[in-house]
Amino acid sequence: MKKNIIGDGLCAAGALLGCNVKKDDYQIFLSNTTGADFEKVSTNWRLSPIISSKAFGGLSKSYHGIMPASVILDINNSPIWRALGYEKLRKLYIADYMSESKIFIPYFPIRPGQIIKKFSNPSKISRRENLDLKALINDKNSKTFLALSVIGNLRVLQSLNLINKKVTVDDHVIIRMGSIGGEELFEYLNGEELVKRFSKGIAIESLEISTGCTIFFRPNFGEYNFDIDYTASVNGLGKLFMKFDSPAKIREAFFNKTGYPTRHNSYNIFAQIHMPDIYSMEGGIVTESVDSQAKFYEIKLKVLNLITRKFNTFKVYKNDSPESILPGIHLSYDREVISGIPRNLEILDTSLCNDNSKHPSIIAMCKSFHKTILL
Ligand SMILES: Cc1cc2nc3c(=O)[nH]c(=O)nc-3n(C[C@H](O)[C@H](O)[C@H](O)COP(=O)(O)OP(=O)(O)OC[C@H]3O[C@@H](n4cnc5c(N)ncnc54)[C@H](O)[C@@H]3O)c2cc1C
Repeated sequence: MKKNIIGDGLCAAGALLGCNVKKDDYQIFLSNTTGADFEKVSTNWRLSPIISSKAFGGLSKSYHGIMPASVILDINNSPIWRALGYEKLRKLYIADYMSESKIFIPYFPIRPGQIIKKFSNPSKISRRENLDLKALINDKNSKTFLALSVIGNLRVLQSLNLINKKVTVDDHVIIRMGSIGGEELFEYLNGEELVKRFSKGIAIESLEISTGCTIFFRPNFGEYNFDIDYTASVNGLGKLFMKFDSPAKIREAFFNKTGYPTRHNSYNIFAQIHMPDIYSMEGGIVTESVDSQAKFYEIKLKVLNLITRKFNTFKVYKNDSPESILPGIHLSYDREVISGIPRNLEILDTSLCNDNSKHPSIIAMCKSFHKTILL
């Protein structure tokens, strides 16, 4: 059965890899625009969060590449890592550094554009410009994989009346909670390094402190706000540094890329907090829920108490300016919402990641691969 892949982000790339492994007949439909083209939601308690991008590569063109180490360790994902040249790293992890709690940051994030270039046959590439999606879905001799990101997929499904008129969407919100002493952190790590360097990137310890909330540690180089266009990182370190107006920001960006310095006297604790139903989409329009700020501070207080109990040297940051609150851009929704769609339509996006505490994008790419090879 022919497979149609609609999209060109990480999930579409996962589906394309699946078609390659199965040697299936496929057609991939790419965006006709390039650039960043971010869609944002308006809000009054933090900087407007990005939610989607309609351009080629979607959000995946700008993401930072962070993934849970577990997605590399998972033996079922072996064919994907082999195809992407990561298999050696996977084996090394297992031999030397088996740990589910780490996150992995590649020096060069996996980008869908590179996968599409390497693994697709030019005759199998079409543009989405005049695509008649309804006709594709009605074609019983093909299977269609919709990979237009959480927002793009839900919007298309709403416009085709295949799901409810109103749906809600979750995201992570990330905030710097406070700091702890370096000595206490290394005691907590049982003397191990916070960061381990590999040929393809760095692995950093994280901790799921409560359901849906992960904390992670970064050296504390001094005070600053996150009032930066942090999508700038995709343009390379040089341009990124030019946008940074404080030495602390530059040092933190350098740490995030390289893992240096190895030890520091004080560390910031960041919390990545899962926010259920923070957005709703009605008739294709996305808005932030009215109680999102109150809900966020309620959860944040609980997380704060857990951190305070866990670390003796924890010092809380009092000032939560809008610039210090980051959107995760880790969108998801309950897949029950799409349970009534036609059987020859499969929805690929980060809702495939069913662990609310994790960075979802590479998990979703791998699950997209598995969805394609199952059929
Ligand atoms: C700055 C930044 C940093 C991030 N860092 C991380 C990270 O480190 N780790 C992590 O796990 N996640 C991260 N994310 C989130 C990550 O980018 C997304 O979760 C991931 O890229 C989604 O992949 P996707 O294939 O579902 O969608 P996308 O990559 O967004 O691809 C969607 C496709 O659909 C098209 N499209 C989108 N909307 C529409 C529409 N309305 N109509 C028609 N077509 C549409 C696009 O052109 C594209 O072809 C980050 C995001 C940003 C912006």
